[in-house]
Amino acid sequence: MKTYQHIFFDLDHTLWDYDRNVTESLSELYQIYKLEELGIPTFEQFFSSFHHINFQLWDWYNVGKIDKENLRRERFRRIFAHAGSSENAVPAPFEEDFMGRTSSKPHVLPYSKEILNYLREKYKLHVITNGFNESQAKKMGSSGLDIYFDLVVTSETTGYKKPDPRIFYHAMDQLKTHAEHCLMIGDNPASDILGAQRAAIDQVFFNPEGKEIELKPTYTISHLKELEALL
Ligand SMILES: [Mg+2]
Repeated sequence: MKTYQHIFFDLDHTLWDYDRNVTESLSELYQIYKLEELGIPTFEQFFSSFHHINFQLWDWYNVGKIDKENLRRERFRRIFAHAGSSENAVPAPFEEDFMGRTSSKPHVLPYSKEILNYLREKYKLHVITNGFNESQAKKMGSSGLDIYFDLVVTSETTGYKKPDPRIFYHAMDQLKTHAEHCLMIGDNPASDILGAQRAAIDQVFFNPEGKEIELKPTYTISHLKELEALL
């Protein structure tokens, strides 16, 4: 075991309960904007189209095929069309309302705060996220996660997105540390695990759904509590 001093966490789907928080806000939006009348027959349809389109756009964002402005401008237009309505039916404030509502939700994944309380006694904790500055800061505040972290590094601030190793180099420069003293914990093989490997940082793959992946992470866990045995 290396002598880790700094632990980098991913935020969405690793600590912050993205699925629960997003589901709640989409459900509210479906009601408030009367999406049934705009041609989206059920909430389930809206939700399924959201997942299909949003994840595709985020995959594109992560590999640099689309930028933030285009992602935010395009996503609900595509989601509405996919769900049976049309691109032009998206109400003007919809994207803003979605972002504001979602990032105000408080839910974190099981055992998040317990494990952060455990780890903060032994290590310095930080966040490295591909999310946008404003929404990531708001999410951390409304969920109470903000108190645990010294450094929050976003792709927006650094100009580099995981899996680009330069976002990790930026964090290590700021902390005046080296790869052998760092550990990255995240749920996304293509960004968190691959990015940390490129930066020669050990990785914990948080894999609650038991996905099969080709990369070989240093460690794999299915529940955050398992970190107590590792760290
Ligand atoms: Mg994630």
